[in-house]
Amino acid sequence: MNKIAHYLQGHIAGEVTSNPDARRYFAHDASILEIVPTAIVYPRNENDVRKSIRFAWQLAGRGRKLPITPRGMGSGTSGSAIGSGIVLVFPAHMNKVVSLDTKKRTMSAQPGANFGALLQMLQTHGLFLPPYPASKDYATIGGAVANNAIGEKSVKYGAMADFVQSLRVVLSNGELIETGPLSQKELSHKMGLQTLEGEIYRLIDALLEENAHLLPVGRERLKARFSSIGYNIFDVKKNGQFDLTPLFTGSLGTLGVITEVTFRVAPHHPRTTQMLVSLEELEDLGDILPSLLDLKPSMADMLSRAAVQQILELNPNQLSDLSMPHEAFMHLFIEFDDSKEADRKKKVKHLQKIVDGLGAWSEVYEDLQSQERLRKLSGSVAILLQPQGPAVATPIAEDISVPVDKLADFLKKIQLVYREVGLPPALWGQAGIGVVRMWPALDLGQTGDRQKLFKIQGSLYAAAVRHGGSISASAGDGRVRAPYSPMVYGPEVHALMLSVKKIFDPRGILNPGVKTASTEEIKVLMRSSYSLSNFYDYLPRS
Ligand SMILES: Cc1cc2nc3c(=O)[nH]c(=O)nc-3n(C[C@H](O)[C@H](O)[C@H](O)COP(=O)(O)OP(=O)(O)OC[C@H]3O[C@@H](n4cnc5c(N)ncnc54)[C@H](O)[C@@H]3O)c2cc1C
Repeated sequence: MNKIAHYLQGHIAGEVTSNPDARRYFAHDASILEIVPTAIVYPRNENDVRKSIRFAWQLAGRGRKLPITPRGMGSGTSGSAIGSGIVLVFPAHMNKVVSLDTKKRTMSAQPGANFGALLQMLQTHGLFLPPYPASKDYATIGGAVANNAIGEKSVKYGAMADFVQSLRVVLSNGELIETGPLSQKELSHKMGLQTLEGEIYRLIDALLEENAHLLPVGRERLKARFSSIGYNIFDVKKNGQFDLTPLFTGSLGTLGVITEVTFRVAPHHPRTTQMLVSLEELEDLGDILPSLLDLKPSMADMLSRAAVQQILELNPNQLSDLSMPHEAFMHLFIEFDDSKEADRKKKVKHLQKIVDGLGAWSEVYEDLQSQERLRKLSGSVAILLQPQGPAVATPIAEDISVPVDKLADFLKKIQLVYREVGLPPALWGQAGIGVVRMWPALDLGQTGDRQKLFKIQGSLYAAAVRHGGSISASAGDGRVRAPYSPMVYGPEVHALMLSVKKIFDPRGILNPGVKTASTEEIKVLMRSSYSLSNFYDYLPRS
């Protein structure tokens, strides 16, 4: 055990390790980067988190930087769940449901609670947490909040940020705070505190006042519905209230470490009607989407022809009992979850007319088994596209978002860029919110493939931003996309966002490099080969 691990083990209740195998394992998340940590801490309670962070704060005061990286299951793809100092791994012990109020429809949970398990529990009460990511079976609730996750239901229900009500957070000096909407009087009280919390309220309030003219500039630039870039400075002051919660949501562990999340949940309607629609032409997409969105679908996902071709080659069984025309340009997975069957029927009938008008193929699915199969297919494309060999499906442009009315144009650009680099444009995502997901097959050990990676990123990020979109809808800038982040809101608004970081983390210990890395730093950190290794290794359990 190294000195740091030894010291921490003597002061906290959870386990600490600096075992070389464990450090090698936690050097990776689901991104293309690699950073070996100094020690791994499995906090048993909030006090363990506070002591670990306080230790790093004091070291930084003496000139020694020991970064703190909070981590759920490491399924994030932006390189933000890895770091060179202490990695705080939450799923081991801090994984409990704290409370569930079925009348008020609210739940509180520790950050390491498994998203999929929470959903199962909620569904037994006729409830659910709608923005579940496709990775829900291994992702944690803390990771999903820190990423501001979205998923197949986001078209109707929104992102995690729309559900998080309040957070318990350990600040960079080890202080524990609770967030939530504050009245003017409550804000004044907070601003009077002689603590880091008080300082944060004073400085953030002043920063937003002095730069109020920049907020509309940022809002105006981004027209896509979802973006996880920078910090959400736009919703801190809203409806006469002041709330730090939007800043922490999507902050990727760079402003504080979340130790408890309280969120709203929604009524779950298990009876749904699904429809699979196969469009022959790119133009059909632009024609169908506005009318489809008017019908308020609970899912409007897509799968491209090239993705279907690749699934047919790699995992043909997944498509064997679906009779859709494989050669169609785009397949849409549509769902209506209205509680009344008559409403669902009306919507399907309406949509069917539009589909027939386009001469498109479609099929309606009412039985639960077929529906589950369709949902599994659309939610596991990244895994189904995994080829055999040194080139593997790699998350480098995995959730670009554009305004829905620009989606067809953006898909044209993707086809061009992929043709230039000689790869098939296998893509999927949430058509209804303009989110496009791509994991091209690349061998990171080959210089040529690394060049393709930067070409795809650079060209598509620039095109998305030109369309009023974002370079990431949910995975976030992290490290991988940080060099491109200023493009999204423009340099002035981006600089304002980075001032927020300095206020929360004056000694720079919370996940440094995340949201701020340069292209040169990324190149040095890149793995020589990519894989989605076992997410459950090296985890004590309780
Ligand atoms: C195959 C695949 C499919 C995916 N599909 C989706 C999808 O549909 N939608 C989507 O949004 N994402 C998706 N993701 C990305 C990722 O799985 C999700 O964002 C997920 O919510 C991350 O959870 P995690 O527990 O693995 O977090 P981690 O990867 O461990 O961490 C993610 C970030 O959260 C921070 N963090 C973790 N815990 C805390 C805490 N307690 N306090 C503060 N910060 C914390 C970390 O520092 C890191 O910055 C996918 C990933 C894969 C590999």
